[in-house]
Amino acid sequence: MTQEYAIEISGLNKTYKASGRAPEKQALIDVDLNIKKGSIFGLLGPNGAGKSTLINILGGLVIKTSGRVATWGYDLDRDIRNAKAAIGIVPQEIFFDAFFTPAQSLELMAGLYGVPKAERRTMELLEMVGLADKAHSYSRSLSGGMKRRLLMAKAMVHSPPILVLDEPTAGVDIELRRQLWKNVRMLNEQGVTIVLTTHYLEEAQELCDEIAIINHGRVIAHDTTRNLLGRMENKEVRFTLDRDFDGVSEALQAFCVEKIGKRGLLFRYAPSQQSVGAMIEAVQAAGFGIVDVSTTESDLEDVFLQLTAA
Ligand code: ADP
Ligand code: MG
Repeated sequence: MTQEYAIEISGLNKTYKASGRAPEKQALIDVDLNIKKGSIFGLLGPNGAGKSTLINILGGLVIKTSGRVATWGYDLDRDIRNAKAAIGIVPQEIFFDAFFTPAQSLELMAGLYGVPKAERRTMELLEMVGLADKAHSYSRSLSGGMKRRLLMAKAMVHSPPILVLDEPTAGVDIELRRQLWKNVRMLNEQGVTIVLTTHYLEEAQELCDEIAIINHGRVIAHDTTRNLLGRMENKEVRFTLDRDFDGVSEALQAFCVEKIGKRGLLFRYAPSQQSVGAMIEAVQAAGFGIVDVSTTESDLEDVFLQLTAA
C-alpha cells in the first residue's frame, strides 16, 4: 500500500456488452493512472472518451472487466467497503429528491453511509457550499447551480479524503463555473484530493495540477499541466516593420517566416530550437526597424488537438 497516491489504477479495461442493436463497446483500454494525494487532477477528453465509465468504476457503479483499482490504498475487489468510503462522487447527471430540503437530503445520505448522528456535518457542509440559508427550503426551489452545490455537499457527508466530480460545470454559465471552481479549490486547500472530469480545456488548465487526456478509452497523455503546456513546440511571433517591403529577404530564409500584409512578418518556431532574439537581430541586420511585436502563446487546446489528431 503506497501512501503517495489517492487513486491507483492499473491495466483497467471495461467492455460494455452488446445489447439490442448496440454493438460491444470497449470503453476503457489498458488504463494505468496514479493520482497523487492532495492534487486537483483533471481527466480531460471529448464526449464518449470513457471519463464517466472510469469515474463510475471508482464509485462502484460500473463493474470493471479487468484490471486493478485502489482508492486510498484500499483495493476495490478485496476491500470494497473501505474503497467506497474513501471516495465521494458527484455524478454527471443531476438526479433529484425534490421533496426533501437540502438539510434532509444530507441527513438521509449520511444515514445511508452509516454516519452516526453526532458525527454528521449537515450545517457545516451546507455552509461550505453556500447553501446554509436554503437548508430548510424545498430542494425543487433551488436553481441549477444550487442543486449542483448540494450534490457536492451530499458527496461529502461521510468526509471522504477524495472527491470526484464528473463534468461539474457542463452546461453552466461562466459565473457559476467560477463559483464551483472556488468551492473546489477551497476543499482542496482543506486537504481533499479532487478528481474532476471535463471536456472544457479551459477548466482543466485553470484548475488542475495534473491532467490525463483520455481519447477512445485510452490515456494518451498524463503530465503536470505545466509540462503539457510546455510540450507545445509551435509558437508564433509577429513583427511589424518600420516600412513597406517586397518579399522576405534572403537573410531571413533560415527561419520559417512569411510576409503578412505590407509590413508584417510572421515567424513560426520551436522555443527549444530558436530564440526571438535571433529573429530580431536578423530583421535588424536586414536593415529594418521593428515597431511592434506580438506573440501567440499555445494553450491546452493546441496540445489537445495535437495529441488527439494521431
Ligand atoms: P464520457 O463520460 O467521456 O463522455 P462515457 O464513459 O460515458 O464517456 O462513454 C464511453 C463509451 O462507452 C461511449 O462510447 C458510450 O457510448 C459507451 N457507454 C457508456 N455507458 C454505456 C453503457 N451503459 N452501455 C453501453 N455502452 C456505454
Ligand atoms: Mg461523461
